[in-house]
Amino acid sequence: MVAIAHEYSEDIQDIRSAIESFIRAEVFPRHEKHAALFDDERRKYGANGAYSKEVWQLVSEVRQASAKAGFYQMSAPAEFGGGGLGLLAYYAAWERIYHLCGMKYWIGHYMVSHWAKGPSPVLRNLTKRAQDEYLPGLMEGKTTMCFGMSEPDAGSDAMAMKTRAVPDGDGWRITGGKIWTSNSPQADYVVVFAVTEPELAAKRKGGISAFIVPTKSEGFSVESVIKMWGHAGGDEGILRFDNVRVEPHQLIGELHKGFRTAMLGVSLGRLYNASRAIGVCRWGLEMALDYTKIRHTFGKPISEYQGVTFPLAERATEVHAAHLMGRNAAELLDRGLPATKELSMAKSYAAEIGARCLDQVIQTHGAIGFTNEMYLTEAYIMLRRINVADGSREIMRRQIVKSLLDGDVDL
Ligand SMILES: Cc1cc2nc3c(=O)[nH]c(=O)nc-3n(C[C@H](O)[C@H](O)[C@H](O)COP(=O)(O)OP(=O)(O)OC[C@H]3O[C@@H](n4cnc5c(N)ncnc54)[C@H](O)[C@@H]3O)c2cc1C
Repeated sequence: MVAIAHEYSEDIQDIRSAIESFIRAEVFPRHEKHAALFDDERRKYGANGAYSKEVWQLVSEVRQASAKAGFYQMSAPAEFGGGGLGLLAYYAAWERIYHLCGMKYWIGHYMVSHWAKGPSPVLRNLTKRAQDEYLPGLMEGKTTMCFGMSEPDAGSDAMAMKTRAVPDGDGWRITGGKIWTSNSPQADYVVVFAVTEPELAAKRKGGISAFIVPTKSEGFSVESVIKMWGHAGGDEGILRFDNVRVEPHQLIGELHKGFRTAMLGVSLGRLYNASRAIGVCRWGLEMALDYTKIRHTFGKPISEYQGVTFPLAERATEVHAAHLMGRNAAELLDRGLPATKELSMAKSYAAEIGARCLDQVIQTHGAIGFTNEMYLTEAYIMLRRINVADGSREIMRRQIVKSLLDGDVDL
């Protein structure tokens, strides 16, 4: 059945079906084989709260197999050997991955490089030397990175960051701390944002620079791994930089203008979150619809009770609307338009209706919906979290209203 009149190009459709073949060949069997490991929180995470070695090994295998097949680096810039695909392809790929894998086959989420964890346009302005040193491993999926922007006192208001990079000969020394940094417990590199010109930063006119730092650098440490909702461990870490030396080649883009790199990353994150919300909602809704046909109460399948099905119809309508919004935002961005309003709308709407949708999917399943084996609570938690991550829903509204008040009232 065709739900969206404006179809994806043949290239994007081909990518989506190739992704499906890869997931069926490389993700599902691996996951089934190691289900006991993935389903046991005490084996999934190590003593420090980070993924255990066995789990990380399986994730790395998926990443590297995908890199060999050419999917992993599909959105990395073409000038350094990536696929250079646009944002509509990026949106379409993530939606397919999350629709197929849901939250059960979660190692499949590593088959395409996440904008903050592997090769992506965030690295476009790496120096030649940094490209030579850091890119080969990242492109092959052998190494990974993380994105250190948020600090304990600078989340939504990221420009209020305190981490400093002080000139030291021809380079700098970074001192400060970051928090909530996804993938940091395993990362080989951190893209870190630090104040290089306090006066400019205080006036919010720049003064923040971006650097790429190997996590084995002297003075860098992951102070702790944050245990998140529902888990014995987590993927977010607290980072410490204690006088970490960075060389000139580690600067990303222009000095004092690192916030541009930060905003590029966050925009990619917003589109990614809009897309994965749709994928996961479709996965959950399909499970709920199937369940209504097999679960009987009072002598009938529950699909015959409008009290059960009407809320699903409402949630499906919202998912369809969110899907269109996300695709539209991706197309505008591919045309080179800023699409700030549309991207903010797409991200916040998808996150909000996503959490509401999974709440209804769980409700439709009754008690079984709360069991770990269904992975529905996992999906709910993910969707609930993206109401905060990569720009909270309130910050998205702030962006939308700013555009509207500035005269961008085209809807
Ligand atoms: C799962 C997860 C992963 C993350 N990964 C990363 C990562 O990899 N790298 C990284 O740098 N950061 C990461 N973050 C941090 C994320 O970017 C911040 O959590 C987010 O920017 C919000 O900041 P905060 O948590 O400090 O909330 P705060 O900024 O303290 O906000 C608290 C509340 O006030 C609201 N609020 C704040 N200001 C306004 C305003 N002006 N108007 C209206 N409401 C407002 C917020 O919406 C929120 O509801 C992650 C967060 C999560 C949850």
